[in-house]
Amino acid sequence: MKKDSTTLRALKQYSGYNPRYFPLCILQAVFKNASFFFSLWMTAKIVDALSGGTEKRELYLLVAAALAGILLIRSAAAVLDRQVETALEILANHEAEAFYRKTLGLDYDKIESPDIRQIRRKIEENQHINLYGVINMRLTLLDLTNALVNLAFSAALFAEMLSLMAAAPFRWLSLILLAALVASVAGGFLSRLRGSKKGAAYWDEIGTLMLNENRIGQGYKVSGMDNRIYRQQPIINELNRKCSLDHKRVFISAWGKRFSLLEAPSAVFSWLATGTSYLIVCLYCSLGAFPVGSVIKYVGYLQKLTEGIQTLLEGFGRIKENEPFLADYLRFFDIENDMYQGGLAVEKRSDKRFDISFRNVSFRYAGSDDFALRDINLDLRSGERLAVVGMNGSGKTTFVKLLCRLYDPTEGEILMNDFNIRKYDYRQYLDIFSVVFQDYNLLAVPLGNNVSCAAAWNREKAERLLNEVGFGKRYGEMPRGLETPIYKEFDSDGVELSGGEAQKVALARALYRDTPFIILDEPTAALDPIAEAEIYARFDEIVGDKTAIYISHRLSSCQLCDRILVFHEGRIVQSGTHQELLSDETGKYYELWHAQAQYYA
Ligand code: ADP
Repeated sequence: MKKDSTTLRALKQYSGYNPRYFPLCILQAVFKNASFFFSLWMTAKIVDALSGGTEKRELYLLVAAALAGILLIRSAAAVLDRQVETALEILANHEAEAFYRKTLGLDYDKIESPDIRQIRRKIEENQHINLYGVINMRLTLLDLTNALVNLAFSAALFAEMLSLMAAAPFRWLSLILLAALVASVAGGFLSRLRGSKKGAAYWDEIGTLMLNENRIGQGYKVSGMDNRIYRQQPIINELNRKCSLDHKRVFISAWGKRFSLLEAPSAVFSWLATGTSYLIVCLYCSLGAFPVGSVIKYVGYLQKLTEGIQTLLEGFGRIKENEPFLADYLRFFDIENDMYQGGLAVEKRSDKRFDISFRNVSFRYAGSDDFALRDINLDLRSGERLAVVGMNGSGKTTFVKLLCRLYDPTEGEILMNDFNIRKYDYRQYLDIFSVVFQDYNLLAVPLGNNVSCAAAWNREKAERLLNEVGFGKRYGEMPRGLETPIYKEFDSDGVELSGGEAQKVALARALYRDTPFIILDEPTAALDPIAEAEIYARFDEIVGDKTAIYISHRLSSCQLCDRILVFHEGRIVQSGTHQELLSDETGKYYELWHAQAQYYA
């Protein structure tokens, strides 16, 4: 009962992505089957007419009617084919959209969780590589629809045959043969059901195994550069051999032994059903129950009937097999966000005054024993230029993630204009920040869309910002200006950008949003020293009255900031201007500064 509801729930959700799709498929199945049954029915009529010595004129009429009917039905089927294709395109599109929407709507810590990453990968791989999950459900449902329509047609004609058989002698024989037919069909159904229950558990096991193997596969993704420099071919060969051997071992033992054994009984029953059908038609024809034309008809229909039953049984089996994969799919959509969502509106202030304070904030990542941040107390003043420095792993990025509420503090609280930031509408709170993260992403869409993050852009503003961040020269070389696609994934005219160039575009994107806060996490790491010096020299002007936070490794870049925070092992150990900090010869800043100065001297 519970298992049924998995498929039904998945079907409800899936068909909702385009409610026209499945009704169109049913209509398509009706016309496809009608074409076959009609032509067989007309053939039987023509044969009867021929053997009964019907007049030529009547015969021609019969043939013409058959051809016209077939043409009509097939034309309708062809029109439906196109409609179904379009409907499927829309359905697939909406389905993918729902998947991305769910992913992006999840709390950030959920997206980072290994379990949830694993489910997402499992769903995607099963869908695209193994064709399980909703794709499998769709294909199975099409087969089932087809089989059911087929059965409806053939059952009607089967009834006609039964009435003819009832009038013939040896009625008891027909009963025995029909009982044998029903028994073989039922036997096939039961054995298929039994097999598929085992098959379902088995495929789930294989799916997990293959997922692990694919992970090994991704671990040595052959990218070219590293593999060549470090001559990794022998290691790759070895991993590859191990993977494929594992694969073969799993598949040979599984498919070969367990699966063929599972499927054998239902195959035998289906063979018995086909045999019995033939026996019935041939026997009753020889007893004179059917005219010659009807023999052609009934043999064809019975073949279709057993085929339909076979497909039906296989379909039920596949539904069972697919259930664990649908359960994964639904499990992903069932993940609930547990981050508190406040309803307080963020005031739209023209003076951009948003005072943010950290009060005794400590933070520990889920599954981690150590605190990444400890006892952070800090007041961010509107409009200030703040630099955050410290060694790798000292907690700088975590601090920014907490500020943007990608995570909530484990202890303590963060306030904005005196209210805990959890109380604000999350979307509106996020809208006051523009961040260039270290691992920022540009999309493979035109430059203008990348800068504006919208379908349209303000040309003058986008070009000005690209100029200000030092992208002007490269921009001048772009033949299609803001229309130029970034990367070549979707457009062979797309341009590849160097790390430094991409970072400049990411900077322009952050500035385009015109938010009260701009945060740059190592914004200049990929920039050459000259570009960096240029940007920093102009940054004060570029960021205007915004509050700016820079995380930087190059301390020389921080000298211009109003205040520098020094992070060490998750704590703020120093705070002050460059001169103030440098005057403390025992401080961390002094140590870091001199460690770097020796390279710049
Ligand atoms: P920084 O930006 O100063 O280099 P981070 O804030 O990235 O430092 O990291 C601070 C600490 O938190 C480090 O010890 C790091 O290993 C740990 N850390 C960072 N991200 C995660 C994560 N997603 N899960 C667990 N630990 C993390």
